[in-house]
Amino acid sequence: MKSLERAFERMLKLCDVVWGWKETRKLRTALHATAALLFPVQCVCCGRLDEKLCAACSQTLGAVAIRPQRVEEFADALPLNMAGLPMPVITAGRYEHELAGVLLSYKNHQMVSLSKVLVPLLARALRAALNELTDPAREVLLVPVPSRRKALAVRGYWPVGLLLHRVFKAHLLPENTRVVHALRYAAGASLGSSQKMRGRRGRASVHNTMLARRQPGISDALNSGAQVLFIDDVLTTGATLAEAYRALQGKCVVPCGAVVIASTPAPDEKR
Ligand SMILES: [Zn+2]
Repeated sequence: MKSLERAFERMLKLCDVVWGWKETRKLRTALHATAALLFPVQCVCCGRLDEKLCAACSQTLGAVAIRPQRVEEFADALPLNMAGLPMPVITAGRYEHELAGVLLSYKNHQMVSLSKVLVPLLARALRAALNELTDPAREVLLVPVPSRRKALAVRGYWPVGLLLHRVFKAHLLPENTRVVHALRYAAGASLGSSQKMRGRRGRASVHNTMLARRQPGISDALNSGAQVLFIDDVLTTGATLAEAYRALQGKCVVPCGAVVIASTPAPDEKR
């Protein structure tokens, strides 16, 4: 059965290569319909036997995430500026319903193909954040929050890094932006079960775990005076973003805010 499934995948890929031909398009549609009958998959949101994300849920997700929002007021562990205001954070949407279902399946259930749904959402939130910068024409470094080594080994991919890479590959951002993998977790920094902990204990568990990388290209970028936007998947208390911010203290860059795919107030900190 597996080899048959692989053969179908190969044929679909071949059809993609010669997509311009009218006959190929017809053949691809027919193959796709046959594959859906032979290897049914459930929608990750509503469970309907269809695509990984059915048309109805895809439409709802598009509508929910159409307007990125500022959410820093809900995350009380974010760093504060001189005026006592939290670092601005823009989210593509709330961590609930379809967005939560898709993000969870993408991150924790190896459904990497769902990145095609998340890429436009992240790109939209990124563009909203870039528009809010005081100097949008100056260089902006997009610094993704790193994956822990253990998580990377288990998943085999870095969810945030992969999405950001695909946003760039699709040319969805202005020319003055670039991705810099400037952060890493310190060796031996283990979060274990406390990673899910929110509130004060959760914050304490993240503190002093991140470092700025020291490779020449990265050090140059971190001394360029550029603006920085941090990128992460989910915002809860803001403790991880605060740690990313702390790790770049003393570098010659201007952290201006963060962009996340989804945000959720921590249960003990809902207003
Ligand atoms: Zn669905």
